[in-house]
Amino acid sequence: MRLVLLGPPGAGKGTQAQWLKERYGIPQLSTGDMLRAAVAAGTEIGRQAKAVMERGELVSDEIMIGVIAERLRSPDCARGFVLDGFPRTVAQAEALERLLAERGEKLDAVIELAVDTEALVERIAGRFACAKCGAGYHDRFKRPAVEGVCDVCGGTEFVRRKDDNAEAVRTRLQAYAAQTAPLLPFYRQRGLLRTVDGMAPIAEVTAAIRRALEDIAG
Ligand code: ADP
Ligand code: ADP
Ligand code: ZN
Repeated sequence: MRLVLLGPPGAGKGTQAQWLKERYGIPQLSTGDMLRAAVAAGTEIGRQAKAVMERGELVSDEIMIGVIAERLRSPDCARGFVLDGFPRTVAQAEALERLLAERGEKLDAVIELAVDTEALVERIAGRFACAKCGAGYHDRFKRPAVEGVCDVCGGTEFVRRKDDNAEAVRTRLQAYAAQTAPLLPFYRQRGLLRTVDGMAPIAEVTAAIRRALEDIAG
């Protein structure tokens, strides 16, 4: 299964990707996570991306396409993947199409998580993640089952993202509207777009995605 999750920051892409990777046994390719790892490791790409990410702007297509091209070559992507945060521009979508075509592959579906912009600020403000395994949580909508303990790995340290502040969020929402939203008609034209209601509770969004994918599998 080759999937793309599409939606603005805070729509729930990472949350739903976590379920999809288990359901289909495919890796989650989160370009945001990859970039944050590069920043933490102090690589050349990390150095170039750091300030751009902190402002909430998009990292260049050239860098992002390079990162994804390399990641797609790993053997664990042979049976599919769920892309979370890529593509974010039409140029990235075209590059992805080319990269897959070179291997005789194509996407199975692009799932749009449709959300109201007003809800995103609250989602992003309450977001935190396990420092050890990266599992995502929310102050109101997704607390760990045992307070202070990660459901997935038992870790007890949690982190908040530096770019989850009001100003960077505003920039990220603008970047989404200007540069990423054009991907909706791009994928609709190709018959790949499946839109689900991202405002529903997490489990209901998951169920809607499952139904959409069962439709495709036939
Ligand atoms: P994205 O990867 O699209 O930026 P996340 O998956 O990180 O979004 O979700 C943003 C925040 O909102 C997280 O704290 C997550 O726990 C929470 N969240 C995700 N989906 C929902 C939902 N359907 N309802 C309420 N909160 C949600
Ligand atoms: P969110 O979960 O809020 O959607 P991500 O974790 O996906 O955010 O991305 C965080 C930041 O990393 C973005 O604001 C951007 O600066 C950079 N980034 C991630 N993926 C891409 C991409 N495909 N193209 C350009 N920049 C990206
Ligand atoms: Zn954890």
